[in-house]
Amino acid sequence: MKSENTYDYLVLGNSAAAVNAVEAIRARDVRGSIGLFAREAEHAYSRPLITYLLGGAVDEGRMDYRPRDFYRRLDVQVRLGAEATGVDAAGRTVRFADGSTAAFGKLLIATGGAPIRPPIEGSEGTAGVFTFTTWADQRAMEEYIVRHNVSKAVVLGGGLIGLKSLEALLARKVKCALVELADRVLAITFDQQASQLAQAALAKMGVDLRTNNTVSSVQNQGGRICSVTLKDGSVVPAEMLILAIGVRPDLALLEGSGIKADRGIAVDEQMQTSQPDIYAAGDVAEAMDNLLGAPRPVPILPVAARQGRVAGVNMAGGQAKYDGSVAMNAVDVVGLPTISVGITVEQEGDQVLRELDVKAGVYRKLVIRDERLIGAIFIGQIQRAGIFTGLIRNRVNVSAFKDLLMSDQFGLLSLPAEYRAHMVAGSGIEV
Ligand SMILES: Cc1cc2nc3c(=O)[nH]c(=O)nc-3n(C[C@H](O)[C@H](O)[C@H](O)COP(=O)(O)OP(=O)(O)OC[C@H]3O[C@@H](n4cnc5c(N)ncnc54)[C@H](O)[C@@H]3O)c2cc1C
Repeated sequence: MKSENTYDYLVLGNSAAAVNAVEAIRARDVRGSIGLFAREAEHAYSRPLITYLLGGAVDEGRMDYRPRDFYRRLDVQVRLGAEATGVDAAGRTVRFADGSTAAFGKLLIATGGAPIRPPIEGSEGTAGVFTFTTWADQRAMEEYIVRHNVSKAVVLGGGLIGLKSLEALLARKVKCALVELADRVLAITFDQQASQLAQAALAKMGVDLRTNNTVSSVQNQGGRICSVTLKDGSVVPAEMLILAIGVRPDLALLEGSGIKADRGIAVDEQMQTSQPDIYAAGDVAEAMDNLLGAPRPVPILPVAARQGRVAGVNMAGGQAKYDGSVAMNAVDVVGLPTISVGITVEQEGDQVLRELDVKAGVYRKLVIRDERLIGAIFIGQIQRAGIFTGLIRNRVNVSAFKDLLMSDQFGLLSLPAEYRAHMVAGSGIEV
């Protein structure tokens, strides 16, 4: 197909899933026309780095996810600042916010997730209230911090994005309160012990932690936020509020398209949606979670990249199967490196291997079910976490070397030769 707005492959999105799909398509089809349309105006960038950019740990030069000439080299027609608003599956076209349309042979929806904005009284239209999921958000926050010389902030949400936001603000010498609805931070990915260590690190940095709480209203002075009121009635002074309670796919795009979705777009092992020739990958998709045994979005970058690759191969006529997601979080809690993988809270019958040194801030925990590793937490010492992630992903029976798992010497050489080869070849390691 070759006409101005008609593409053999149309890709919506310009991030981990989309970029990896484009690479996979071009590796198999050098001629087919590829059009890539994305809402954000930036060249493809590494979303996980936006908080580090705000905190000054990286500079703008580090942000590119691929070199600037990437799309030119791969002969991809790119339109940035183009928001898709509808898909006509039968007519094989996509509508955009500016009224234009584009036609496709194969379509990939890789539009990611959108930040959840809780309805908080007084927050709409008040300056200084931010979500933090895009580079544009980072720029707006940077500008606001400098212009208003921000010295105190409240972060709502003690998950991955909340803690990364908090770390950035602390690096900017902004005094922070962290408000979390659960009784502890990182409650979804950590166990009690791990959360306690993280909280001790936050306390050391002077973070005012408010658990079992939420922000119920925002007060302003002259249109700018000056404080928030919490559910328990306490008032916390704040010149900035970051809403970081999670992301979820924005599925409005699918309305009337017949593409099935629940919490994300439903996909099969080929990453194809319920409509032929229409694929989805990344945070927007709901693929099989291996440990849960059910489909759900797992919004992390390595998952988006792998799903994008699988979708791209299949779109270009190849055969690739997505072998399922395993949730993983790697976050530095104010200088304390942490990684959690899979199911970290054991059930009756599970075996747990644990090592704890509170003084040193070190915690290592492995959860084993039916002789297979199903989850792990590493705090303070994250070396070799990649090997454990591989063992979890690949559901390796660990009974033969279980005694070695917690030893300092445990490494690739402790594994059976056959599995070692698999890991070294690359497919077993995700971190
Ligand atoms: C602050 C922050 C920190 C993170 N840290 C980590 C981390 O440490 N480790 C980790 O693994 N993951 C991390 N993540 C998650 C990771 O960034 C995502 O899982 C990953 O970026 C998902 O990639 P994606 O391609 O599915 O979608 P996204 O990166 O969300 O990109 C979506 C793309 O689609 C475009 N788009 C959206 N809607 C439309 C539309 N209607 N029409 C056209 N284009 C559209 C957007 O402009 C964008 O190009 C973090 C996320 C955030 C926000």
